[in-house]
Amino acid sequence: RKLDAAERALIERRARVLGPAYRLFYERPVHLVRGEGVWLFDEQGRRYLDAYNNVASMGHSHPRVVEAIASQLAVLNTHTRYIHDRILDYAEALVATMPRELSQVMFTCTGSEANDLAVRIARHLTGGTGIIATAHAYHGLSCAVSEFSPSLGSGVPLGPHVRTVPAPDADRGPGGDVGARFAQGVQAAIDDLVRHGIKPAMLIVDTIFSSDGVVADPAGFLQPAVAAIRKAGGLFVADEVQPGFGRTGDAMWGFQRHGLVPDMVSMGKPMGNGYPIAGLVCRPEVIEDFGRKARYFNTFGGNAVAASAGLAVLGIIRDEGLVANAREVGLVLRDGIRALAARHPAIGDVRGAGLFIGADLVRDSTPREPAPELATRLVNGLRERGVLISSSGPHANVLKIRPPLVFSRDNAQTLLAALEEALATI
Ligand code: PMP
Repeated sequence: RKLDAAERALIERRARVLGPAYRLFYERPVHLVRGEGVWLFDEQGRRYLDAYNNVASMGHSHPRVVEAIASQLAVLNTHTRYIHDRILDYAEALVATMPRELSQVMFTCTGSEANDLAVRIARHLTGGTGIIATAHAYHGLSCAVSEFSPSLGSGVPLGPHVRTVPAPDADRGPGGDVGARFAQGVQAAIDDLVRHGIKPAMLIVDTIFSSDGVVADPAGFLQPAVAAIRKAGGLFVADEVQPGFGRTGDAMWGFQRHGLVPDMVSMGKPMGNGYPIAGLVCRPEVIEDFGRKARYFNTFGGNAVAASAGLAVLGIIRDEGLVANAREVGLVLRDGIRALAARHPAIGDVRGAGLFIGADLVRDSTPREPAPELATRLVNGLRERGVLISSSGPHANVLKIRPPLVFSRDNAQTLLAALEEALATI
């Protein structure tokens, strides 16, 4: 169906007032008015199964989060320069989900700010400026962080102190030892920095490699790369904005899949199930000197309402068993997509962990060639069938399936049936 006049008018209104830098999903945009659990509703009352939003991980408008936010907002909302119990309760509950070495937390409002703070701390501690990230990473929008977010494209140049390394390419790579190969890339980046007189400060990795096309396996493959950056005097920062809070289904944090203890861990997105709260958890020895010499105050970061939202989220993950649900329903989805792949050569690879799944689409005549146009058609085909997902990866050919963690087996079957139908039309 073509855009109607009302839809065109809305798109023009949006462009007029929001300017040209924003991008919409879908040519015929989804116009939402309400969300509940795994469902989103548009202005005509049409219902969509949400298989993409990783902010509303507890489900849209979860009553327990709504109540936590509303009741705290009605009593007091102020910042971290006064003492307030809630932020202490939350900080303790949050670090209790981590290995004991990671015991201090600083709060921000966005994942970008958390990564920006990680850069400042890493530079302070190491005296270096060099940053290593993966070749299609996204770590955020601040001036410093966009300089190591190559997925923003060539319009946003990388910093002169930044080096990128290819993410493991499970589907097209040369094979062999994934961990050793990734570490070789990191070592080459370190050597190049040093050759240019730049001391390495940190390696930062999204531990599920979301915008690099979703890479989860083999578990543990990050270890040699982390050893390499530490040997060079730099820190390892795990960006848990996407994999964190149980999404990978094995544990609360994506780095745990790799048997690692990072120096700093950034997080955000699902942390307040939609209320803006993010943060950076650190080893105390990493922030000790920074904390003594640099003042840190974030007006909204860690306010009492944010802490209430965050506490509610941790409670829901625990009480609703969402890590186990991510593991079990994630497996149903991956198995189901693999069964479809057996009949549809266009699906070249299915990977991921828990409720973070990538399905790599290829041209069936030449099985390893990425097929981004197919991904677009399937994303649109699913939308026509009332299911929302998206695509990503270096070639934009990987279906990215990342539903709220409350996704049920039933929801998984609905998605699989829609995917099967959409595949049948291409
Ligand atoms: N890191 C990763 C891996 C992300 O996916 C994002 C957001 N897409 C960010 C950092 C930045 O988070 P925010 O948008 O909250 O600034």
